[in-house]
Amino acid sequence: MNNNYEGHDLKGTILRLERSSIYDGDGYRTVVFMKGCPLRCQWCSTPESQNYKIEEAEGNTYGKIMTVEEVLKEVRKDIPFYFHSGGGMTISGGELLSQAEFVRCLLQRARWEAIDTAIETTLFGDWETAEPILRASNTVFVDLKITDDEKHREYCGVSNKRILENLKRAGTMNADYRLIVRTPLIPGVNDSEAELERIGQFCAQLTNLHHFQLLPYHRLGTDTYRKLGRPYLLKDLRAPSADHIEWCREITGKYVKTVI
Ligand code: SF4
Repeated sequence: MNNNYEGHDLKGTILRLERSSIYDGDGYRTVVFMKGCPLRCQWCSTPESQNYKIEEAEGNTYGKIMTVEEVLKEVRKDIPFYFHSGGGMTISGGELLSQAEFVRCLLQRARWEAIDTAIETTLFGDWETAEPILRASNTVFVDLKITDDEKHREYCGVSNKRILENLKRAGTMNADYRLIVRTPLIPGVNDSEAELERIGQFCAQLTNLHHFQLLPYHRLGTDTYRKLGRPYLLKDLRAPSADHIEWCREITGKYVKTVI
């Protein structure tokens, strides 16, 4: 195989590669977690993905430098599993738009090799950077956390203006990817009737939307905060009950097909 394609030797900072995931797209997925994220969601379950630099804590190293071709070499090992399960490669984060050129080259080459591609992003970045990445993806998962800008700043550390603008463009442009919008359901933060109504109404205008998904809050990742010496601000929060999750699903379900 000719490995002198565009960007083959570009270097990226990878948090880790996870094989045989069944949660990040169709079939068995090889998930490439990129390091670095400009958001600081208080419920983030992968705090080790947030910093751009490689970190060391309690004998663990979080992150390593790899080239596009080195990542693809690992991904190709799983091709037999993709074939039988309809799987492929998913790029996640952190926020993948933080290393956009690396991600674009990786996705485009994977597609060229007929590997199914999916991305998980907040769309917090420039549209010009995001668009080619979206177009190189078969499935696009976008996190929509909170519609209220002030609250978004408070709980996620940044304004949501660019996220909402980009999501509207991604959801209405002429495109051939499957768009799935996901909202992490955080008790007391975005699970009120008014907020869920706004999320449902926003998603209803996205003509590319395949479906909407609620991701109930969980406490995974709290031990990593301790290892990294960072406070976990939501330590008293409990996971929502099954009844409450169903109540939330009914509200957004008035506007868009909602799955849990
Ligand atoms: S966008 Fe994702 S990776 Fe970034 S802080 Fe929020 S939950 Fe964590």
